[in-house]
Amino acid sequence: QSQELSQVQIDYHAALQALVEDGTRMVCTGRMHTDRICRFESLCYSTEAEEFIYFHSNSSVMLPNLGSRRFQPALLDLSSVEDHNTQYFNFVELPAAALKFMPKPVFVPDVALIANRFNPDNLMHVFHDDLLPIYYTMQQFSDLDLEARLFFMEGWSEGVHFDLYKLLSNKQPLLREQLKTLGRLLCFTKSYVGLSKITTWYQYGFVQPQGPKANILVSGNEIRQFTKFMMQKLNVTMEESSSEEYIVVFSRTINRLILNEAELILALAQEFQMKTITVSLEEHSFSDIVRLISNASMLVSMHGAQLVMSLFLPRGATVVELFPYAINPEHYTPYKTLATLPGMDLQYIAWQNTDREGTVTYPDRPWDQGGIAHLDKAEQERIIKNTEVPRHLCCRNPEWLFRAYQDTKVNIPSLVHVIRQTVKSKPGPKKQKWSGSLYPGKVRDAKCQASVQGTSEAKLAVSWRIPWNLKYLKVREVKYEVWIQEQGENTYMPYILSHQNHTFSENIKPFTIYLVWIRCIFNKNLLGPFADVLLCST
Ligand code: UDP
Repeated sequence: QSQELSQVQIDYHAALQALVEDGTRMVCTGRMHTDRICRFESLCYSTEAEEFIYFHSNSSVMLPNLGSRRFQPALLDLSSVEDHNTQYFNFVELPAAALKFMPKPVFVPDVALIANRFNPDNLMHVFHDDLLPIYYTMQQFSDLDLEARLFFMEGWSEGVHFDLYKLLSNKQPLLREQLKTLGRLLCFTKSYVGLSKITTWYQYGFVQPQGPKANILVSGNEIRQFTKFMMQKLNVTMEESSSEEYIVVFSRTINRLILNEAELILALAQEFQMKTITVSLEEHSFSDIVRLISNASMLVSMHGAQLVMSLFLPRGATVVELFPYAINPEHYTPYKTLATLPGMDLQYIAWQNTDREGTVTYPDRPWDQGGIAHLDKAEQERIIKNTEVPRHLCCRNPEWLFRAYQDTKVNIPSLVHVIRQTVKSKPGPKKQKWSGSLYPGKVRDAKCQASVQGTSEAKLAVSWRIPWNLKYLKVREVKYEVWIQEQGENTYMPYILSHQNHTFSENIKPFTIYLVWIRCIFNKNLLGPFADVLLCST
């Protein structure tokens, strides 16, 4: 892969003339800076000013045209982390005529995706904030294909996982620092700026304590489409399930250690009658880890970024996350949320060390490795005495760091006990039937017929036809929900019915107008849409 931009020959003179005459053209999607992605023609970047430039001309376009709201707080988020004030994108404006006085532009011929990586040295952040969002942003715009080029503007160096970013396109990604070597004024012929947040499932606690995102929009299917792509690029093939079943212990070797790892491995092997192996980021190549995890029955690991690799587990596998002393598993759930996404089809188990004897603390380490020696004595004592880290914001809470970087001697019987509460027989990838859940369409041709008996009794016969898609589906259980609402009232009477017609006589009054709402339900919990409301007069 070469770093030069000259794969596509462009007519320099024509390009320059087009820039001067047409200026920059921008059309964006999204209503707010937090959900906006912009497509540009002729967006430029000054490597000296480290600013993007929008050139105004008679033909330039700026949609949305926000006026000064463009700075409140920004045009868009450049990373997938929502509304983080170090990750904003904006441009400065110039008349195209100013180009006469500026360095000669260097044109970028590749279609560009311009974004920020959030924390490229942490594997959870790499996958959750960068790789998945980049992959699905590229899926969203058809000209962001494998020939597109990624531009990372956050200012970090490549980082330890740069090889993973390289898998997303055939061209070498470029970093902000490298742009300087290309020229003083760069102009992107076609570019997209910003990342889709549609696949992210976790918020890290910048404004409220960390937890799952409020409105998760991704399911296991899309996650697995992405991992399939990554595995193809890594040349890892899914083995047929003929081979032996096994458990993977993903260990950390620098900190947050499992102190009795050998004992743990023996115990797991014995309990589940399975081969048990260890992997670590320090001792295995990334492809090897993916190959091993993608065929594993169970993944056991301390809480930490390496657990994002459960992305690669086969359906039906079990994730066991170990939490050090005083860390409440319910408060730190990036991997639980991942494992339990609909359609991920993983079993998730958390184990917490509740035994002070089984923990080793490091009060004298630097603060960012959990040291607390820099705090005043009373605060140190409070932290050491406390049995649970209170909820906190990201990212420098000393009590959290102190506890997060403990080593743990795992209490084996207690761990086996919690695993056994969920995994009854052998763990492992089950040959699962496709469990994709399809929703019913509307019921059709709903009709009602009223009959009045005397002055106080009436009946309402309602009938409808099955949803159109049902005849193509095998559905275990089909039910119908019918709501009968007297016109003008706020309340309604709900019924769950098995047939396509029913005569209602309870609480039905003569000479009254009823609104009848009908929807179909598959397998108890797949609720379809209501058909158009039916007006019935008795
Ligand atoms: N890491 C590792 N081995 C270790 C400690 C950390 O491979 O012994 C990796 C970890 O998986 C993550 C990065 O180093 O990708 C940063 O780890 P840190 O403890 O800062 O973050 P956390 O795992 O708590 O998210």
